[in-house]
Amino acid sequence: MRTLLINGKIYLEKGRFEEALSLKEGFVESVGTTEMVITTRRPQDEVLDLGGKTVLPGFNDSHLHLFLLGEAMNSCNLNGATSIDEIIERGKTYLSNSGSVKGIHGRGWNQDFFKTGELRLPRREDLDLISADIPIVYERVCGHVAVGNTKAMEMAGIKEDTQIPGGTIERSPEGILSGVVTENATYILAKSISQKSKAEKKNQFIQAGKYVLSQGITSVQSCDVSGEDFQKTFDWIREVYEEKTLPLRYRHQFNFQEIKNFRRYLETEYKNGKYLDGFYQKGSLKLFKDGSLGGRTALLSKFYADDPTTKGVEALEDHELQDLFRLAHEHSIPVITHAIGDGAVESVLNAYENVLQGKDNTLRHGIVHNQITTKEQLDRIVKRDISVMAQPVFLDYDLHIVKKRVGEELAKTSYAFNTLYQQGSLISIGTDAPVEDSNPFRNIYAAVTRMDHTGYPEGGYQPKERMTVGEAVDAYTYQGARNQFQEDIKGKLLPGYYGDLVVLDRDIFTIDPADIPNTQVTITIVDGKVVYRKE
Ligand SMILES: [Zn+2]
Repeated sequence: MRTLLINGKIYLEKGRFEEALSLKEGFVESVGTTEMVITTRRPQDEVLDLGGKTVLPGFNDSHLHLFLLGEAMNSCNLNGATSIDEIIERGKTYLSNSGSVKGIHGRGWNQDFFKTGELRLPRREDLDLISADIPIVYERVCGHVAVGNTKAMEMAGIKEDTQIPGGTIERSPEGILSGVVTENATYILAKSISQKSKAEKKNQFIQAGKYVLSQGITSVQSCDVSGEDFQKTFDWIREVYEEKTLPLRYRHQFNFQEIKNFRRYLETEYKNGKYLDGFYQKGSLKLFKDGSLGGRTALLSKFYADDPTTKGVEALEDHELQDLFRLAHEHSIPVITHAIGDGAVESVLNAYENVLQGKDNTLRHGIVHNQITTKEQLDRIVKRDISVMAQPVFLDYDLHIVKKRVGEELAKTSYAFNTLYQQGSLISIGTDAPVEDSNPFRNIYAAVTRMDHTGYPEGGYQPKERMTVGEAVDAYTYQGARNQFQEDIKGKLLPGYYGDLVVLDRDIFTIDPADIPNTQVTITIVDGKVVYRKE
């Protein structure tokens, strides 16, 4: 079947628009004026009159956590809470609404948003006020810091003397557990919450997939698999794709911090796993070098300007990072490493350079986040062709804290996304959902204005780092496809490319940028078929 889209403003690729296009068997067949395309019409063809509406290639979120997004949609939402009392109240409400639950997983608190009561991190005894009988784990918005109630700490086996490599367990000077843990220790703590059945997991995953399709995202590069139990997760995600229940293109970003698990992956899933090229791809190895800026766990090269006792947390030591990287590289697996602080970026660049030994970065190894950077590091990223998966929407919060955390000087060369884009870097855009909502328009707004959602600061934070709408769309579509080696088939609306596109309710290229976050998707098409239509 063919579908003809006519009378629109169709963005084909950077700087190029057309009025009409035809889709055939999942691909773009032709583009041109309405007159040209309509002359090819056959009786059985479907015609969609766009009435002047703007069309883009489907968005490609280059780094998120689809399953966690589904979990967050089904957990106790702590986003925007303004006090410790409020997060306690929300937990109590969640508990009374959900009847008999075996545990509570809350997500999204941020101590910087607390305005009343004690302005500190939540603690074990705060959560004990919600319940002492079931485990409760509250993750900070960044996912790198969490707090558990007494029951959760017990069930996770975290005791006064427990040590967890690559993570921290906070204790009072007397050695009493506060309930707060970071990095690798958060996974251990999370194990106290009862496990979901496979069917529940698949449902939440599909729920999140449908949600992002409604926002115009047609491809995701998603980090959902990690650790020892990796095979189970690979298997149920594969089932979702084999059952064809989710028309969302998916590429793995599997995470192994321990080389023994990665070796086991290489012996099993890597060799035998089945992949369905168009919709379900093998993907990259995702590593974590550090944490988050908000939680002061991002690894800086110097002490934090607002906390001279810490430089952040190292989730992997340099030699571990390099060994994992080398092993992946030898197997032609692209590696992408989470690095937020300049100390982490430095380690990642060193590891990549040590292994690549001056050779071209043909596997497109990259850095996820790449926020706090020096000028010298930016130059190395460009020179070595390191791919960068950026989240401009993080600025909504970070622009308020970055100078405090790292000082004026380093802040100047940080979040330098346009600097990289203009120098031809492979820089793509994502949201890291559920850290931020997966909404692409809030992200484009942040890339284009460099302001928070209230319009602060006037003129934008570091105005030279503003991108144009066209550049941000390019980074969100074509560059995302490049990041997954599919730039010849995805991310543009030219003949031979996937028929993945979105119809918008307003023209983001001409509206007041302040209006961009309000943009809604009216139709999402994947593989030439309508997969979402706004009621
Ligand atoms: Zn992430």
